[in-house]
Amino acid sequence: MRLGTRQPPADMAAENSIAARLARDAGPGETTAFLLVSGGRAYFSRFRPLPYQPETPVTRLISGLWARFGSQALSLVRRPVLTSGPITDLDRAFVKVAAKRLRQVAPFPAPQPMATGAAGAQTHVELLEIGEEPLPEEPLPSLPRSVSSEAAAIRLVRDLQERARRGPTRATSARRLSALLTDAEGLVLAAAVNSAGTDRTRHAEAELIRRWWRDHGRGLPPGARVYCSLKPCKMCAALIWAATTDREGLRVVFDRWDPGPLAQGTVLSDNGLEQLHLPPD
Ligand SMILES: [Zn+2]
Repeated sequence: MRLGTRQPPADMAAENSIAARLARDAGPGETTAFLLVSGGRAYFSRFRPLPYQPETPVTRLISGLWARFGSQALSLVRRPVLTSGPITDLDRAFVKVAAKRLRQVAPFPAPQPMATGAAGAQTHVELLEIGEEPLPEEPLPSLPRSVSSEAAAIRLVRDLQERARRGPTRATSARRLSALLTDAEGLVLAAAVNSAGTDRTRHAEAELIRRWWRDHGRGLPPGARVYCSLKPCKMCAALIWAATTDREGLRVVFDRWDPGPLAQGTVLSDNGLEQLHLPPD
């Protein structure tokens, strides 16, 4: 065999063919993300993210695969995620925590004529869309209307992690962690608990931010406060950052340090927007 005469890998030909098919159907401004799996299937997500939406086609695809396939998603997300759009910080952070590789295939290649004769390139691949997955109901205890101080907010976070029931949708292996959103005056806006047992994307803060967006369709209000059990990881920090309309006014307070590598050098810590709760004397 001579060097330099190698054919492109079959996967690459299939990826280009899928990219072309998806590009044909994309609406104006829509970004497509897809992942080719063995067995002639590719999963894709496609939409045009709105301002402050804590979701992109890349993150919807990754979290959708975890939501649908549970622990089986582990083998799926080893494959590269391909996106037609510019890779965002949120995409990168998501891939760090819940997938492996991300690559831009932009611009998507022009559609090829069907009968090119190139073996493999026109192999039929079934395209399956990952849409907006419903967020399961969280079995949260009833919440007070407001909290009067940072200490009271952290007490509520601790209380939530103790009292949240482990409902049928929650992975039994999920650690007890929770997150709380208030406005600047302490009015309680949302709460969530960690459901990341088999689904790596369902950290408490991620659930909190996604739920806020689903319920309200807008970014976090000015002066938003996020309280959580642990220092937010890269993915959760990027979600909070993406949804924040008033970055000067944002404050994130966590109860305990997370020494893990995924919680270091996040967009929140890099911008000095988070702090450890120090109990009042
Ligand atoms: Zn996290």
